[in-house]
Amino acid sequence: MTDSPQDKPTPRVPQQRWADVFIFSLLLFALLTFFDSGDRDGAEIAYSEFKQLLRDDEIVSVNIRGDRITGAFRASINDRTEFVTTFPPMEDTDLFPLLEQNDVVVRVSSAEQSVWTLVLVNLLPWMLLIGLFMMSSRVLRGGGKGFPGGVFSFTKSKARMTRGEDIKVGYDDIAGLKHAKEDLAEVIDFLRNPDKYRKIGARIPKGILLIGPPGTGKTLLARATAAEAGVPFFSITGSEFVEMFVGVGASRVRDMYKQAREVAPALIFIDEIDSVGRARSSVAGISNDEREQTLNQILAEMDGFTGDEAIVVIAATNRPDVLDTALTRPGRFDRKVVLDLPQREARLEILKVHARKVTMDASVDLETIAAGTVGFSGADLANLINEAALLAAREGKDKVDQSYLERARDKVVLGEQREALLTEEERKRTAYHEAGHALTAFHMPYADELRKVSIIPRGLALGYTEQTPKEDKLNYGQHYLEDRIAIMLGGRCAEKLVFDEVSSGAANDLRQATELARHMVSEWGMNEGIGPLSFQNADQSYPGHELLIRKDYSEHTAELIDAEVSKLVRSSEERTMAVLKEHRDQLDLIAAALQDRESLTDSDIHELLQVQK
Ligand code: ADP
Ligand code: MG
Ligand code: ZN
Repeated sequence: MTDSPQDKPTPRVPQQRWADVFIFSLLLFALLTFFDSGDRDGAEIAYSEFKQLLRDDEIVSVNIRGDRITGAFRASINDRTEFVTTFPPMEDTDLFPLLEQNDVVVRVSSAEQSVWTLVLVNLLPWMLLIGLFMMSSRVLRGGGKGFPGGVFSFTKSKARMTRGEDIKVGYDDIAGLKHAKEDLAEVIDFLRNPDKYRKIGARIPKGILLIGPPGTGKTLLARATAAEAGVPFFSITGSEFVEMFVGVGASRVRDMYKQAREVAPALIFIDEIDSVGRARSSVAGISNDEREQTLNQILAEMDGFTGDEAIVVIAATNRPDVLDTALTRPGRFDRKVVLDLPQREARLEILKVHARKVTMDASVDLETIAAGTVGFSGADLANLINEAALLAAREGKDKVDQSYLERARDKVVLGEQREALLTEEERKRTAYHEAGHALTAFHMPYADELRKVSIIPRGLALGYTEQTPKEDKLNYGQHYLEDRIAIMLGGRCAEKLVFDEVSSGAANDLRQATELARHMVSEWGMNEGIGPLSFQNADQSYPGHELLIRKDYSEHTAELIDAEVSKLVRSSEERTMAVLKEHRDQLDLIAAALQDRESLTDSDIHELLQVQK
């Protein structure tokens, strides 16, 4: 990877002084219009009218100031006692005789001040217009320039500093994540004891990148690391940088590092670094000054470390794939720590950690919950425990028992229960639909265990069929996936079989089945016709720019893929249909039980079909 010229961090952001001037002028303008308003109370009259009034002896005094003449009427005219008029540019020789003749009091003030006033008053609206124009054009370009330093201090670091001893979480509060904790143990030791490392000349990594899906404990881990090391913790979130004005992010970064240097050893945490550290795109039209400047500043600060400072920077992201390669170069965030979604064992531990905080009934079985929460992140599990506690409290209980945990799990997984007013016909149709899914899952050889079937509406769904994977799977075999498609089509097939028509209720099932089939055919090499080739769809990471990314296969291949996807889904439908036809009696049994009891567990179904589990 070669350096592009952009990769060079710019040491300082140019200060946009004009912005200060702009704000200052705005205030001045407001002030001037305020003070100047004395002039403006009078009625504006024409010079000729003024002369006529003078001749008619209607005017008692005038005040001449530059080319402005203000004055007072003898008696109010149209409710006005004062007037304003403007001197014509040419000389008016009979004005002064006229004034004297009528015994008008004449005052002349120095024009000096008013020239300034006039200049400013005349110029400022233009400055305002130009300023606004410049600002809006910057904002439109996707960045917007800021007001660095100066009148309003937008640039003060928004980083929150917490003293290590004030952080309430330690490594004890983090369950699982054994590898990540081990990786960070070295950092903790270094921050506690930088001299030990300095003496021997060891270079500790300056930047550590925490990578993991949302809710896996990245932020938690960073905080706990500072707490364990007992050093100040500075944290800032990448998305905070993406504000309206360019240059703010960069100076915030500068400020934060400055503060950290003053109190070193310290730990700096940059959360969601992908929102500033996205690969700088060369696609025309996607430019973002703010992001780029902030990123450059982060890099410049890291490059500026002389190994003596005991400052460690931890950054977190859930999109490592979009990060700019400049970030991960040696000397920057060159150490990566990956946080995975917790496996069953870890889920149980996380549940236990959070269960400590609520009063649990002695009989609760967290194992079952851990088994039924495949794909949950740490945050989801924490949320589950809290939901259960909320439910129990709402119903006036003083302990959380298993039923609340199960309900909380269902709520997190499937959404809130919903009162849906279904007609008897709709209920029957839903019952057959879900029974179709369940029965297919029951008979397909590679399918996951059934967990629960229900026709209680939740979220957007009228019913649901849930399965529990035997173990947490990271990799799926072709047979398993084919059975998945068959199960997805089970609902629709049952409707077709029983009611001789299908309903729109299967739309979601069909979309999922089609998507899965397309992945199998075009990306995972699971189709004979296409062979072991991978044809990715357009990159989704830049929404709205999919069209800019070239499709890297021919029209012919596209047609072939479409045909194979269709073949795969259709053959799955046939398999499902065959199963349901063969076990039509069982389908009726389950559907009837569902209409009767609304929800069935896997043991209910085994009992119903009179088979041993
Ligand atoms: P991330 O930053 O990766 O999105 P967070 O660190 O914000 O995730 O995690 C959110 C919450 O989830 C934490 O405050 C904590 O309550 C819980 N959590 C996540 N992972 C764990 C874990 N391994 N052990 C205990 N709690 C966890
Ligand atoms: Mg986080
Ligand atoms: Zn369905």
